[in-house]
Amino acid sequence: MQTLCATALIFGMSGRRSDSVTWTSSMVADSDYHRILPGSDALRGWISHSDKYSTPVGLLACQRDPLLRRHRAFVVSSSISAPPPQPKGKTAKKSVIAPTLPSNAVILEVILSDTCLFPEGGGQPTDTGVIHADGITWPVLKVLRHGGSAVHYVQVVGERTAEEALQFFSTGAQVEAELDDAGWERRVDHMTLHTSQHLLSALLETKLQLPTLSWSLTSYPSPCYVEVPRGMTVDEIAMIQREANNLVFEGRKVHIEAQELDRESLAPVEKTEAGRAVGRGLPDDYTGGVHRVVFIDGVDKNPFMLRNPPPKPEQLAIVPVASH
Ligand SMILES: [Zn+2]
Repeated sequence: MQTLCATALIFGMSGRRSDSVTWTSSMVADSDYHRILPGSDALRGWISHSDKYSTPVGLLACQRDPLLRRHRAFVVSSSISAPPPQPKGKTAKKSVIAPTLPSNAVILEVILSDTCLFPEGGGQPTDTGVIHADGITWPVLKVLRHGGSAVHYVQVVGERTAEEALQFFSTGAQVEAELDDAGWERRVDHMTLHTSQHLLSALLETKLQLPTLSWSLTSYPSPCYVEVPRGMTVDEIAMIQREANNLVFEGRKVHIEAQELDRESLAPVEKTEAGRAVGRGLPDDYTGGVHRVVFIDGVDKNPFMLRNPPPKPEQLAIVPVASH
């Protein structure tokens, strides 16, 4: 058997970012897509319908229905965004998944009662979109998780100062977040590949006992990959691709189970014999209090904080990475 020196697989869906994307704005996730487990009924009360508090990341509207494109909400808080100070002599840590903000743009940080715009996290890049406030459309350049809250980075438009713009986002103001066409195309790409990564990782684990050491979900056109602890043979790669495609074409259902987070009960992140961490656990700074588990029917059970879409019948393409 021929062993490849590659220890990572690049993957993608056929038709990525092409006209073959046929998802429409009228689609909604199945009514049983998002399930709150018995005993965690308190979570229902964490979904905010007022300006008093924000829905925690883990229970956001975009996580309860990943196909939702518009959502009306109240402003909970807003402030002028200040770039974090850079330590002397050091350059800023390069973010591989967040778009860099234009240096001369005036940016507000806005927290809403709930949102259909997904904050970067768990390996999935941020959504971009817009917020409609008082008849004006404001670009949302990125959304980040701060603790347990989704923070929208809103670009001030027109000739307004930051202080003038803040008037549109005073606490209690009713606004509407929207995944606009560009944001929707970006989202479809991310969520399709995120589900693909779960599928690929689950197959590598169950068929070949190969844990996923790391993975990358990057914005188009950068490729996504999963990293495994040893080289794979040509036959193994062909088998995994065949299995993955079969499952994609079968249209396996995906659903989410949510419960209150109990960190004590979480299994510690496993390590390989060489001491490498396998995957990643919940971030230490996550304070949303929600534990989500994604299920791909009969295939996968992975704790993570994101939402996955229903599967889409396209071919999952897998390519070994040449390491040298
Ligand atoms: Zn994931």
